[in-house]
Amino acid sequence: MKSVNYKIEVLTENCTGCYLCEHICPTGAIVMEGPKSAALAVVNNDKCVACFRCVDVCDDDALLAPERESPLVFGTDPKSAPEADVVDLCHRAEIDPDKMVCPCSMTGAREVAAAILNGAHTMADVALATGVQSGCLMYCFAPTHRLLKTFLGVAPMPHSKNQFYDTSYVPSDISPEVASRYPQFYIAEETQTLAAEAAAQKVVPV
Ligand code: SF4
Ligand code: SF4
Repeated sequence: MKSVNYKIEVLTENCTGCYLCEHICPTGAIVMEGPKSAALAVVNNDKCVACFRCVDVCDDDALLAPERESPLVFGTDPKSAPEADVVDLCHRAEIDPDKMVCPCSMTGAREVAAAILNGAHTMADVALATGVQSGCLMYCFAPTHRLLKTFLGVAPMPHSKNQFYDTSYVPSDISPEVASRYPQFYIAEETQTLAAEAAAQKVVPV
């Protein structure tokens, strides 16, 4: 399990209602309340994983990050879903089940898959259930999006109309010609390994 020791407070007198914090929050912990021309940010700290992205984006010094009275504990046991289903979902998404999806929160593909199988069906749900998207956002977005899209059968929608999601790549999306230019990333080898594992599991990648 993981825990965070900070929460977010809004200085409403400084909030200009720019919507940037709602836009950037990975867990949907911030919503804008009030009429559009005078909306103010409101934080649900039961959903805040203390990524501080909102504090960074706020140009009006309207967000503070004090310590919590007690830590927020969260995370998903990879064994909380049937292992065969976890592995099957990873393989269908063309992701190595033993891959580290989010080094920032130390979250592996099995934990993300288990969270999805247990009912986390939006990117925000998965972020709150596992801690992905709480750090650099460089590594975790694509595999998390891919696992969710594979499970749902459609691309997951942002939790806010003010957000958008970019598309994601897995090794087999990259053409052999491009892969051959970057041998240091072992793209062809990973594609072959995943295809062999998927064939052994008799699954059809999406
Ligand atoms: S980023 Fe700051 S000013 Fe903008 S809505 Fe959020 S708290 Fe208010
Ligand atoms: S610290 Fe991160 S998770 Fe918490 S409210 Fe801000 S953006 Fe959302």
